[in-house]
Amino acid sequence: MNIHPEISALVPEMMDWRHHIHAHPETAFEEVATSGFVAEKLRSFGLEVHTGLAKTGVVGVLRNGNGSSAIGLRADLDALHVHERSGVPYASRHEGRMHACGHDGHTTMLLGAAKALSRTKSFGGTVYFIFQPAEENEGGGRVMVEEGLFDRFPMRAIYGMHNWPRMPVGNFAMRAGPLMGAYDVFEIIVTGKGAHAAMPYTGKDPMLFAAHAISALQTIVARNLHPLDAGVVSVTQVHGGDTWNVIPQEVVLRGTVRTFKREVQDLIEERMRTIVAGIAATFDMTATLRYERRYPATVNAETETVHAIAAAAAVVGEEHVDTNPTPEMGSEDFAFMLQAKPGCYVWLGAGRGPETPNIHSPQYDFNDDALAIGASYWVTLAEQQLPTR
Ligand SMILES: [Zn+2]
Ligand SMILES: [Zn+2]
Repeated sequence: MNIHPEISALVPEMMDWRHHIHAHPETAFEEVATSGFVAEKLRSFGLEVHTGLAKTGVVGVLRNGNGSSAIGLRADLDALHVHERSGVPYASRHEGRMHACGHDGHTTMLLGAAKALSRTKSFGGTVYFIFQPAEENEGGGRVMVEEGLFDRFPMRAIYGMHNWPRMPVGNFAMRAGPLMGAYDVFEIIVTGKGAHAAMPYTGKDPMLFAAHAISALQTIVARNLHPLDAGVVSVTQVHGGDTWNVIPQEVVLRGTVRTFKREVQDLIEERMRTIVAGIAATFDMTATLRYERRYPATVNAETETVHAIAAAAAVVGEEHVDTNPTPEMGSEDFAFMLQAKPGCYVWLGAGRGPETPNIHSPQYDFNDDALAIGASYWVTLAEQQLPTR
């Protein structure tokens, strides 16, 4: 393991920052204190600091030499609506909110890299340290791109990282092409005719629609997709009915669709519309489908993935870098940045063993043993991609 010497010296300080951020979690676009903490630290390291991008986003700029080359390194600031059950002494002091995805660790590692590089000046060009709000659900990454992130801060590539508790600490994984799925949501509202449940022939039972639709929607992946294409259709909510002896007027179904390819996403939406309309016609009811595309797939560029692999291998050794992991259908709003710029998103091993709680679990806590590894990766990547001449 090659922990960068400047990072080794920063570990106790990074742990303090991480625990402070962990104790004070803030959710989407409300990361005011977290964003203030980051901006204050970056200023104290001597960086030029820009605030207010996507409300609570922060960009720190570090230049060295006359080189015009620039890269962006990105972390996320937000927490989740989860009641923390980790039992750690620095557990959330904000009831109902928790850093259950490790963005406290991501923010800390990027701050550590900024401090180290501000001291060593071991690169030539510009590094943009990008701290984005609202990664969970609300697409803060998209808002940053829409508000001109890449126009205001021109860079040739963008890099992202997420801790991965299901992979042991001391490892990295990344691949060119899709690493995480596109995230869509849908809502089906079916309207029948409410009736006495003992006299169903006097009504039109929307429950029957729900039963048929849930089964039929599963045939899209099973019967319409190429067997080597990936897709998930999950109905996750069924709302209808209030009592035993009444057939309700209306039933609402909601759920999510995950895909890697645009063509597959289009196919699933089109088949859903046909199936919903078809079942509604069969039972003589009306049904509407609202289909919303939230996050695109996270797709890594070839060249930048080679660069990410080189930096990771320099830190943990080639044998600890998995360059062909099985992609996951979870989603990531770094995808919006990757649509606008070539780049690479990597998974940073954070597991303590098979029992490590996974991200989004109330028992989860970012693994502090990964702090130095992740921060060293950032520093090494900047040194390798922006060599001093
Ligand atoms: Zn998350
Ligand atoms: Zn996350």
